[in-house]
Parts: sequence; C-alpha cells; structure tokens
Amino acid sequence: MLAAAGAIAATATLPASAASRCFGTVAKGRLEDGVALPAAGTNFSAYSRLGVTAGRTHVHSTVRDIVVDAYVQLAAALPGTVFVYGETGWAGGGRIRPHRSHQNGLSVDFFVPVRDAAGVSVPLPTGVTNKLGYSIEFDAAGRFDDLRIDFAAIAEHLFQLAESARRHAAGLALVIFDPPYLPMLLATPRGEWLREHVNFMKGRAWVRHDEHYHVDFQVTCAPLA
Ligand SMILES: [Zn+2]
Repeated sequence: MLAAAGAIAATATLPASAASRCFGTVAKGRLEDGVALPAAGTNFSAYSRLGVTAGRTHVHSTVRDIVVDAYVQLAAALPGTVFVYGETGWAGGGRIRPHRSHQNGLSVDFFVPVRDAAGVSVPLPTGVTNKLGYSIEFDAAGRFDDLRIDFAAIAEHLFQLAESARRHAAGLALVIFDPPYLPMLLATPRGEWLREHVNFMKGRAWVRHDEHYHVDFQVTCAPLA
C-alpha cells in the first residue's frame, strides 16, 4: 500500500510541463509533447507493464490531468474499487495498431471494473494469454469465469470523467461500450445523469467493446497540416 500511496502522491506533484498540442482528429491526427499516464495509483493501474514500456499509454496533457483527477474522485466516491486502464496512444500520436482511432492523444480505453465471486473488486486479469485483456469475452449478463462487470462503478467512472473534464474546460466527445450493456449501465444510480450528459455510440463498433469502454475526450485541436 505504501508503494501505491507513493505513486498517487507522485501524480499530485507532477512537474509543470508544457501543455501537449493535438492535431486533426482521433481517426487521423497526431500529438506533440504527449505525456504518459501514471502507471499506477491508489485505485488504478495500467493494463500491462509491456504496453507502458513500449510507449502505448501516452495522451494529451489535459487528458492525463482529467483521467488522474477522476481516479482521485473515485477513490473517495467508491473506496475499495479498483480500475485498470488500457491502451491510449503514442507520444507523437498517429496510427497505433490495431486501433482505428487513438491518433491525437484524446482516446483512452478503460477496462471494465469487475468483482469476483465474493463481491470483491479486483483488477481484470490482463496478460499475454488474453491479448493484454482485449480478447476477454463477457457473456450477455456481463460475466466471465467468476468475474462480473461492476456496471455501477463504470457509471460512476464516466460521471467523474465528465465532471473532471468540465473542470479542465474540456469534455467527453464520445463513449463506446457494447450496446447490449447500455441498459445495465443506465439502470445504475448514475444512469439518468449519463443518459442526459454522455454521447454513447449507438451502432456497433468495429470490434465488440465488452471488456473495455473507449472514451474520446473533447479538447480543441489544430487542423492537421
Ligand atoms: Zn479504443
């Protein structure tokens, strides 16, 4: 726990760095001075040390601030609930396979928070045997082995991300999550708020988003020259 506390303290005292600059769109864009998300904190961790080392978790500095602030709020709102984030993008943006977007520092994949058979919040097991988590398949009720998706925690996370984005003069442009799961998400305490304030992709995405939810943040970018 001391190590985790140190990690979150470190995120609170990040040196003031130049703001990142984004260009173009999430589907065709690039990033300057992208920053890495912190690898871990009190209540969150990255999906893969390999992915972090390879540089696949960079974002726009404003997105980094939004994501970290939301985790701080979640630690108070949902103590004991742990979160795992996935791939974001390269420090300089551009195509990051196999993703179709994630090109200008504004896209973040978040793995679903899950509870085990005893109801304890545990990190989703992401590793080389399941393509770093991306090949996990949940059933129609949101179950995988003895794990079940914590829809209320996802809803609270999206609420905190939206509020954190607002505090940073930004927003959430689009959230992609498996459409059949949306009724379960919207039936949680934050459901009504999400229904009114969050733009969920209506149709099917190019891959099923059952093990993660994808968020595109709204930050003003320059045109792609
Ligand atoms: Zn994504």
